Amino acid sequence: MMPLHPELEPLGPETRVFRDDTGWVLPDYSDLADCTSNFHREQDGRPACTATTVWKVVEDHGLHLTISFWCDTDLPAEHRAQTGAVA
Ligand SMILES: [Zn+2]
Repeated sequence: MMPLHPELEPLGPETRVFRDDTGWVLPDYSDLADCTSNFHREQDGRPACTATTVWKVVEDHGLHLTISFWCDTDLPAEHRAQTGAVA
């Protein structure tokens, strides 16, 4: 089966960035969300991030959403530019 319109996403997903100073909880409210940087930290052998995840990044890929959570230190620069709150 042919992929549907693979040419329609040249600019990447539409991204929205949200901040909550108290940290974001997981969708099931069981706990605070972990910093998404922990995936990379684990690969690199660095200690896990335990900072509060004050940023939530929602990327709209059309058919699905990707949600990631970041502490203030680890928020990627491309998302930080969207917050309008550059330190
Ligand atoms: Zn972090």
